Amino acid sequence: MSSTRIGIIIPCYNEVETLDLTAEAVGEELRELIDAGEIEIGSFVCFVDDGSRDGTWKKIESWLTKGTLYRGVKLSRNVGHQRALLAGLMSMRDEAEALISMDADLQDPASTIPLFVGAYLDGNEIVYGVREDRSSDSSFKRGTAEFFYRMMRKLGVDIVPNHADCRLLGPRALDALSHFDEANLFLRGIVPLLGYPSTKIYYKRDARIAGDSKYPLTKMLAFAWDGVTSFSTKPLGFIVWLGFFVCLATFVVGA
Ligand code: UDP
Ligand code: MG
Repeated sequence: MSSTRIGIIIPCYNEVETLDLTAEAVGEELRELIDAGEIEIGSFVCFVDDGSRDGTWKKIESWLTKGTLYRGVKLSRNVGHQRALLAGLMSMRDEAEALISMDADLQDPASTIPLFVGAYLDGNEIVYGVREDRSSDSSFKRGTAEFFYRMMRKLGVDIVPNHADCRLLGPRALDALSHFDEANLFLRGIVPLLGYPSTKIYYKRDARIAGDSKYPLTKMLAFAWDGVTSFSTKPLGFIVWLGFFVCLATFVVGA
């Protein structure tokens, strides 16, 4: 029997429609790995309720009664995906050796869990889930995502293209992450800075199993802005130069 305990962290905001399917599918994958002796019996999936206003927490509670495979963390208010995910990672990091983060809508399929575990057991401290195909996204979402990755590369920010927040972090990476004190969390930018041996696993991105996206355009733009301003000083430099030239032009016109 393996002594590797794995935890799956799933932030949930108004996910009452997806939770049963997700709990079922993720639970099934964990049970299979436990039965095969790949991971420890105490491995679990932890749902983080990010201040949902629908029956998400009630639904999570109903899964908690089904045994130690299911856990839940309830946040006092909606703090947003990134903070909810970090809260889940930090509150569960002493409960498992490695943690895998996934979305509640199974767009990152549960069948990737054995791939993450395999890559970790092969000696990787960080395993990035990369979507090799975004055909299930709307063309708007695909276009804006491609523009964002191109812009981030131009700004010199080291992020893994087509990787969202589906990843495995081992104990050393989790410890290093706990020392980051970022005000505007953009985990996709922070994790590559942690260092440590890492690898990627590729999968097809499915469509949301139920419900609607919890990332409306305003939230998406705020998130992209956090990504740009937290990891690159180039926009700041641009503003300084712009201010300088406007000032100079004012003097010239004034004279
Ligand atoms: N989410 C969250 N808090 C929020 C918004 C979203 O915890 O304020 C969760 C959501 O429940 C899901 C994940 O973050 O598990 C990703 O959200 P979603 O699938 O709606 O984003 P998309 O895939 O459309 O970009
Ligand atoms: Mg989604």
